[in-house]
Amino acid sequence: MTFAKVKKFLEKVSPLAGITPEEKIILETPQKILQAELEVSGKRYPAFRVQFNNARGPFKGGIRFHPEVDLDEVQSLAFWMTLKTAVADIPLGGGKGGVRVNPKELSKAELEELSRKYVRAFYQDLGPEKDVPAPDVYTTPEIMGWMLDEFEKLTGTKAPGFITGKPLELGGSKVRDIATALGGVYVLEEAAAKLKLEGKRAAIQGFGNAGMNMAKLLREAGYTIIAVSDSKGGAYDAEGLDVDKVIQFKEQQGTIKGFPEGKDISNEELLELDVDILVPAALSGVITENNATKVKAKIVLELANGPTTPEADEILHQNNILVLPDVLANAGGVTVSYFEWYQNQHQQVWDEETVKTKLREKMVAAFGQLWTAYDGSGHDFRTATYVHAIKKVIAAERGRRLRS
Ligand code: NAD
Repeated sequence: MTFAKVKKFLEKVSPLAGITPEEKIILETPQKILQAELEVSGKRYPAFRVQFNNARGPFKGGIRFHPEVDLDEVQSLAFWMTLKTAVADIPLGGGKGGVRVNPKELSKAELEELSRKYVRAFYQDLGPEKDVPAPDVYTTPEIMGWMLDEFEKLTGTKAPGFITGKPLELGGSKVRDIATALGGVYVLEEAAAKLKLEGKRAAIQGFGNAGMNMAKLLREAGYTIIAVSDSKGGAYDAEGLDVDKVIQFKEQQGTIKGFPEGKDISNEELLELDVDILVPAALSGVITENNATKVKAKIVLELANGPTTPEADEILHQNNILVLPDVLANAGGVTVSYFEWYQNQHQQVWDEETVKTKLREKMVAAFGQLWTAYDGSGHDFRTATYVHAIKKVIAAERGRRLRS
């Protein structure tokens, strides 16, 4: 979503949150924009860090390495992080970073140099109590390790809470690898209970970190996965796919397409299957006004960021389909990032069960608050979610301003 669209969105939602025009300006204005050019092997790569809002705590958000990164995108993502940390009810604000680069074209040594130079460019504005980055598209735990090392060298400190998504041996948290999907399962279970939905047939679009883990976890929770897909296509079996075999096939073949124990299915067809739960877990903008009328699921769980266009969202709402929006559905990732930061700041190491229990508590509580805001409000669940988040950010802003 472009930043112009973010502003348009705020135009619509902020009156419902009861905020003043001045407060709307605060909400749509990033607090600080950092920019640099990073030189590696004679090439220069534009780099950004947008610190959107820290009224509720230090800025928090990933760093993306991608050829299409630009300031407008980073700014929009930083805005959504501000709402996501508010929805998850963790004491952090919103930020995002990025470098316009195709990391696949860099050698490992160049990638490390780029990562370290990113930290060198911005480290004075980063830190465990200022701004805490994390991985995002094409950035990995290994990159987080290099960035941590660079930050500690520059500052002469030991500061593992500077960055999250680190390898376990550098202070990473258990469960971080599956946190997004696991948080999604906890939210889904709460929503299904509210709707008294008994059907357990699910289709998942995308088979990366979010989608593949979701398939495994839903299967463990007793769901039947009738279709999954990746960028090349999908596999379908009305009786349910054997998820372990699909994973094995994907690992061997690099794709799901052609999975011998299922029928081939396109990504478009997957969205229109007769299922109870639809999980978009790949790209944004896949459910549009053109296909929304054909969605048959009772619940759409947005593990991907922004998979439903505003026009489609309206259609789904009219058709009585509950859409669990990305800022809630995939907030398990940032919640366990918060746990990682917390453990680092308090010299603690939690075991797997502790992290899972705390994640469940956070996601159930977040869902409960939103359901209360939604139920009987007359708004759709997404609007109720955004209004709730905006109110929380503005309440923190109000608490900080002098009253005369
Ligand atoms: P990933 O790179 O691990 O996996 C992406 C998957 O999407 C791959 O299986 C890929 O084949 C598939 N894909 C690509 N193009 C596709 C297409 N046209 N149709 C169907 N599938 C396609 O990424 P991820 O970490 O799983 O992230 C997926 C989504 O979840 C993104 O929108 C991301 O922003 C969001 N998300 C992820 C996390 C996380 O912790 N991983 C957290 C929050 C949000």
